[in-house]
Amino acid sequence: TDTISNASSDLSPIQTVSVDLGDRSYGIEIGRGLLETAGERIAALRPGARLAVITDETVEKLHLKTLQASLAKAGIDHAVMTIPAGESSKRFSQFERLCDEVLGARLERNDAIVALGGGVVGDLSGFVAAAVRRGMDFIQIPTTLLSQVDSSVGGKTGINSRHGKNLIGAFHQPVLVLADTGILDTLPMRDFRAGYAEVAKYGLLGDEPFFAWLEANWKAVFAGGPERDEAVARSCQSKADVVVADERESGRRALLNLGHTFGHALESAVEYETARLVHGEGVSIGMMLAHEFSERLGLIDGAVVARVEKHLSEVGLPIRMSQIPGQLPPAGTLMDIIAQDKKVSRGNLTFILTRGIGSAFVEKGVEPAVVHDFLVEKLS
Ligand code: NAD
Ligand code: MG
Repeated sequence: TDTISNASSDLSPIQTVSVDLGDRSYGIEIGRGLLETAGERIAALRPGARLAVITDETVEKLHLKTLQASLAKAGIDHAVMTIPAGESSKRFSQFERLCDEVLGARLERNDAIVALGGGVVGDLSGFVAAAVRRGMDFIQIPTTLLSQVDSSVGGKTGINSRHGKNLIGAFHQPVLVLADTGILDTLPMRDFRAGYAEVAKYGLLGDEPFFAWLEANWKAVFAGGPERDEAVARSCQSKADVVVADERESGRRALLNLGHTFGHALESAVEYETARLVHGEGVSIGMMLAHEFSERLGLIDGAVVARVEKHLSEVGLPIRMSQIPGQLPPAGTLMDIIAQDKKVSRGNLTFILTRGIGSAFVEKGVEPAVVHDFLVEKLS
């Protein structure tokens, strides 16, 4: 697999985004090379704390040594716990094992759990941190673009159930997030692109100047220049703004689901077979559908749709359902999946629609029949 190339080895300046949630406020530090100074940053925030570092087998091989050297330099005592890479680790058996290992390592309430990995490690470790001793400090060191711009911000933690994804969990905010953008150099291109769909989403949902900036600078974001730090920082700022306005998702936070109702239906339709579709690819196609559907409803004109399509396709993201390998189910089946989604009220569907780039809004009264007809046409 091709990986992102490293454009410069200079340390770019550290950027900080603060998430202001009263006594649960925390900072997200962003910059290339941050992992090497993780130890001193953690020691400054929580002097004397011991750590349980949770990672997966892939990230362990690539990046654990750098973190451990930094912890050793800062004199921080720590235990390491490793899980298999992949979504299937977000399960009860891993949760149970990790809780026991953290207790077995004699970590106390004032010690901290560190997640070194992507969203899987972050969600699972965060839930362990929320549960053990009724809540331990939690530090995120996200290592995928998706986790740097999305899952490490906002405090949602959890695991999957046989009844569905992310159905068991807790809100548990981290005390610190360290996003080392240089770590993304080892990420396979497909994962980087999938994370980029969420970056573009922030522009599309509420920040037209950011979307325009991405149109001009996406190549440097992929190549790993200071523009990558900028894109991560602006994305974290966007998510933080929404989270601060609506920590427990009663209103505005739903905007973050732009492209996700259609996207989730497609992920579910391919039975989460990542060879066919990964989350960010579903979001990319879903954002296109949300714009096309908004055009259908007379909210935007074709030029807006064309602009979104141009950008998502030029970075290499899929933009149409026909790009998903294999057969998709008929519109009726996709509608059943959408109806099972939690966003149904009194027979009407909730969708994130848009009045233009950067002007998404929550529409609660979408008639299923209209969506059905739209999907029939898009699938044909
Ligand atoms: P992931 O954690 O599975 O990481 C993807 C793959 O990349 C894994 O195989 C991992 O081992 C590998 N990897 C990680 N960092 C790497 C690096 N630097 N170099 C090379 N390989 C690396 O998946 P993800 O996409 O990061 O996260 C997906 C998860 O995030 C899902 O479980 C999803 O539900 C969750 N999520 C949570 C939230 C939230 O708010 N909590 C938001 C969005 C998504
Ligand atoms: Mg998402």
